[in-house]
Amino acid sequence: MSQKKKAYVETYGCQMNISDGELMSGVLASRGYEIVASPEQADVVLVNTCAVREHAEQRVLGRVAQLGGLKENRPDLVIGVTGCMAQRMGTDLLRKAPYVDMVMGPDGYRSLPDALGTVLRSRNGSSAPAEGAPAAPRLVRLEGPRRKSSPGVAVLDLDPYESYEGLALRRTSRVSAWVSIQRGCDHRCTFCIVPSVRGPEKNRDSRAVLDEVRAVADEGITEVTLLGQTVNSYRAGDWGFPRLLRAVARVPGIRRVRFTSPHPNDVTPELVEAMASEAAVCEQLHLPLQAGSDRTLKRMLRRHTVAGYLAKVEMVRRAIPDIALSTDLIVAFPGETEAEFRDTLAVVREVRFDDAFTYRYSPREGTPATRLPLEDQVPRDEGQARLDELIRLTRGIQREINERELGRREEVLVEKKGKEEGFMLGRTRRNKVAVFPGGEDLLGSYLTLELTRTTGATFAGVTVVGPASVEPA
Ligand code: SF4
Repeated sequence: MSQKKKAYVETYGCQMNISDGELMSGVLASRGYEIVASPEQADVVLVNTCAVREHAEQRVLGRVAQLGGLKENRPDLVIGVTGCMAQRMGTDLLRKAPYVDMVMGPDGYRSLPDALGTVLRSRNGSSAPAEGAPAAPRLVRLEGPRRKSSPGVAVLDLDPYESYEGLALRRTSRVSAWVSIQRGCDHRCTFCIVPSVRGPEKNRDSRAVLDEVRAVADEGITEVTLLGQTVNSYRAGDWGFPRLLRAVARVPGIRRVRFTSPHPNDVTPELVEAMASEAAVCEQLHLPLQAGSDRTLKRMLRRHTVAGYLAKVEMVRRAIPDIALSTDLIVAFPGETEAEFRDTLAVVREVRFDDAFTYRYSPREGTPATRLPLEDQVPRDEGQARLDELIRLTRGIQREINERELGRREEVLVEKKGKEEGFMLGRTRRNKVAVFPGGEDLLGSYLTLELTRTTGATFAGVTVVGPASVEPA
């Protein structure tokens, strides 16, 4: 490559997708690309997408169309769409969006440079890869007047063995690292698109995970979050998740460990014991509940009951009384009655979550729940009213909890600049965000703040101790 090609990666969706975006940047950087900070600077623009919510998908499609507009002045620009939406829509996306040159699902990133090479060669009228190059990704010839620039390239095969071992990520944060330990999911929750776009569960080798965490610590990053769709179902040989969590927590230089998202069924006494006894494991747990009615949970195929969930919460709180709990909740799942919705409110009142991510059910093409009888659909207005009521409840509880925490002294890891000049954002071990006066020189350091005010969701604080020097690895 005479002059370095420039690539820009824009990521939407969950932490796993953020980690995948870092993986794509790493793969491209290792093959000579320069990673740039805006699409205007780039020769290649990749939009790394999420398919979980229809609304989010529509917004991303709008963004892809907007980026497609850049081609008017720069016909050589390559636009690729990657991730779960690319996997779900496949070649339909190439047909509907003629400015898109490549679609690639979550198991294709190893071949990203080769797929881009195929796009460029097809523009030059050649489809033959250079001698010795890996097999070319599947090139999809699309006919019709809407597609003028090039045929599209599609990399959509799910690979049950791909765990991206041996590839270096290009991390976006110097403070905190996502470490993916598992890809895909063996559950079949009926509302969820993940199993069909990310395939079955694949767990990484524990040695590779620990090597990655040691490398993270060597770079001076002190916080890691272990990622997996059902992260605590991790198993590789003799290694279950509690053992891995303990080993990660003991890596020299690692001061905070989090993990997301666990499945309630795999919250075991052994895991809770590891969480309680390892000093680096933060006092925080995001434990998706989804619904507070057994009948709804059954229709969701969640494989746990309300009583089972509450027993796990009790076990965790007995071992770690100060733990901050958060959850995911869906209202208006097909067939949910008003009484069942009220059951969800009752469970929320009983558990009192520190934070909750709340959604109104919307059908996703390709998920089993779309086959539930049409007459079971909860009318949109009714669903919205339930969501509004749930949000009022969860936010009210969050405010009450946080107001009671005013005056506490909490250690924060300084993550980024605040919105206002002269302020920084830090995160407590219990995953609460606090803004405080300070400069960028504090990034990555640990301070003790006194929490002085709350918006209900976040805090303002003043520094009482710090910054603490980070212990050498
Ligand atoms: S556990 Fe259920 S909700 Fe979570 S990724 Fe798997 S199928 Fe989706």
